[in-house]
Amino acid sequence: MSTTGTAMHDLIRRLYPICRSITGDGVRETLRILQQYVPLVVHEVPSGTKVLDWVVPKEWNIRDAWVKNSAGQRVVDFRESNLHVVSYSTPISRRMKLAELKDHLFTAPSNPDWVPYRTSYYESNWGFCLSGNQLKTLNEDEEYEVCIDSSLTDGSLTYGELLLEGEEAEEVLISSHICHPSLANDNLSGIALAIALARGLKDTRHRYTYRFLFAPGTIGAITWLARNEAAVERVRHGLVLTCVGDAGDITYKRSRRGNANIDRAFAHVLKHSGQPHQLIDFFPCGYDERQYCSPGYNLAVGCFMRSRHGEFPEYHTSADNPDFTTPDALADSLAKCQTVIEVLEQDRTYVNQNSKGEPQLGRRNAYSACAEGADKKQHDLAVLWVLNLSDGMHTLLEIAERSGLPFATIENAAAALQTSDLLVEKESPKERRKR
Ligand code: ZN
Repeated sequence: MSTTGTAMHDLIRRLYPICRSITGDGVRETLRILQQYVPLVVHEVPSGTKVLDWVVPKEWNIRDAWVKNSAGQRVVDFRESNLHVVSYSTPISRRMKLAELKDHLFTAPSNPDWVPYRTSYYESNWGFCLSGNQLKTLNEDEEYEVCIDSSLTDGSLTYGELLLEGEEAEEVLISSHICHPSLANDNLSGIALAIALARGLKDTRHRYTYRFLFAPGTIGAITWLARNEAAVERVRHGLVLTCVGDAGDITYKRSRRGNANIDRAFAHVLKHSGQPHQLIDFFPCGYDERQYCSPGYNLAVGCFMRSRHGEFPEYHTSADNPDFTTPDALADSLAKCQTVIEVLEQDRTYVNQNSKGEPQLGRRNAYSACAEGADKKQHDLAVLWVLNLSDGMHTLLEIAERSGLPFATIENAAAALQTSDLLVEKESPKERRKR
């Protein structure tokens, strides 16, 4: 078991009890904890602020909530699980019969023991979520005391942002939503993966500038897009992270463009991983790729998941708890994203300096120095591919795709050819920076 996977899992456990929503103190507390891992900046955007076609809503906070029977016992108790209250519930304190209460009770059809996750952000309402078995214990004749001690006030929407400057101004945007309460795979696993990626990049040299966004779903991404036009222009690649901790196979959802470098890098890395996986095309539901890939932006942002949202029974229920995620799956998700980032970082276009006929490679020490064997054979084949396709028109990733060889092998061959002065980068890092 990897220590990084364990650390990610520990972070999920730590964040799990907090009652998050699209605004409120739960988001702030979560971001404060994340600041212990990375130096992210917290932004507050006042309620009522117009953001694209939306308006930042009132801030929601909750202290307690319950349904009590006539004996004064809590039969539904927010203190047991924050999923018991519909997120953004308006305050209420009243007695009522079950017939009236029932209009405000929600159960999970998939399993009688699970409590569903429900929200009512943009429609003024209140409600409780409970398991089917819990509902069965309530009776028609009883009068229940119903209380939701919540508030909806002019406050702000909170999101966190971490910018890790690279050698170039062009950016990689990594986004995860931060608005789900006690749900582990949907939400917290994405946050834990983003933190692990950021910690890995923080103290290393990298070509791209990395921007990590921890924002409430939909309204948070829309708020960030509305406030960051200049940064949006610099986004070259992007990724939404969600549901990355379960034991299922990896799913990568392509950007709206369908053939962006990030889409091709994932397809390449997953193919060479030898592990079962799924590549799916963009569709306009899901997470914040919907906003980043809206036609006015059309950013090269894909979505990285394991089991697909909505397609595993535990989705949006109390069964999506920390035990549903595993350190091994988290570590594997991290490794895949890191390999893709390595591809994006190293992908370059080169020009063969001896393009008329093959250069005499033996004389120039461009062939592999390692002993005979499969590795040497692959390296030497990669050298020929890189020489042949480095006409200033093909990137290393394209050469890897066409040759069927792993990107790292192609990249090593290109490095060897540069050392032998047979290969020159088409555009120097200095020229790239000027762009
Ligand atoms: Zn969700």
